[in-house]
Amino acid sequence: MPAAQPSMQTAHILEPGDILAAWVADQGQPAWRVKAIRRWLFGGRAASFTDMTDLPKGLRAGLEGTFRIWTTSIARHNRADDGTEKLLLELHDGQRIECVLLRDGERRTVCISSQVGCAMGCVFCASGIDGVVRNLSTGEIIEQLLRLQQLLPPTERLSHIVVMGMGEPLANLDRLLPALAAAQDPDGLGISQRRITISTVGLPPAIDRLAAENPGYHLAVSLHAADDPLRTRLVPVNKSIGIAEVMAAADRYWEASGRRLTFEYVLLGGVNDSEEHARSLIRLLGGRAALVNVIPYNAVAGMPWREPSQGSRDRFLDALREAGVNVQVRRRKGARIDAACGQLRRIAAG
Ligand code: SAH
Repeated sequence: MPAAQPSMQTAHILEPGDILAAWVADQGQPAWRVKAIRRWLFGGRAASFTDMTDLPKGLRAGLEGTFRIWTTSIARHNRADDGTEKLLLELHDGQRIECVLLRDGERRTVCISSQVGCAMGCVFCASGIDGVVRNLSTGEIIEQLLRLQQLLPPTERLSHIVVMGMGEPLANLDRLLPALAAAQDPDGLGISQRRITISTVGLPPAIDRLAAENPGYHLAVSLHAADDPLRTRLVPVNKSIGIAEVMAAADRYWEASGRRLTFEYVLLGGVNDSEEHARSLIRLLGGRAALVNVIPYNAVAGMPWREPSQGSRDRFLDALREAGVNVQVRRRKGARIDAACGQLRRIAAG
């Protein structure tokens, strides 16, 4: 009896590189087929190669045997009344990640993950409770965008991307940047770089790399405290970095990009939400033309933190506004479907 054939390993078509172009050339097909296939993948919302009806049948069959479009499956799909939808995606190795579609007027924003878990250990965040498992591949990052796009009717397009899901994006830049390049490609999702925000805990060498290579992204730095002892308590990686270094790197990015920076500040009741904390944040910002994005803590089951009271939240915001700081309060969206990063994964697993 002949030995059993090993199952053919199929390549993920969403991974970068020119494997698709090389394969198309190998088939004796014209190069413009690559564009046509990419248009199907990113704009045509084809769920399979069979759906790509304007390609010759033989080419479709060849693609089917050589490539995979999907390596993830939808383990859970939650919808909130405000139009927010959240997907729990299961990866090929059984790991799970989350991504969210937010509807706000004309905006169709997606919030995507960059890693399974997170190594930063921010004490109030559900994503980092078990540390980091692995980086997401470029294809897995793109798949989140496509899965979320498929939730929209054909008349609507994704307009904004925020990399604020699970993981620290600046710890996985090598895989994230090609995925964001595909998102911008006119044959990809055609989302302009200005509409893409990368949120970071604040890793200076990686911020400098982004400033050197790709300063067009909107950068959001998660500050959460304006003095080192408190920030180190909330954001443990701060211990070896320090706020001064984070601010200096943020300033260098601002110089390179010319785009207003955002600083995120999660308000934890009784921890970092007093008027004194607001004053110390005002001093730290020192007149920088930055936006402060205040995020009321989204309670995570089993964690000791509290949401800020309405009174302390108002006093904190008033103090910043009176000092001329640009402030935005992140509106709660999809709270009932546990849309805050890392929460659904834990609940679904537990
Ligand atoms: N690692 C990156 C991006 C992912 S987190 C970063 O630190 O910025 C995106 C934002 O959500 C961060 O500002 C993070 O501190 C915040 N966040 C995490 N858990 C939260 C919670 N339970 N409630 C409110 N904001 C939270």
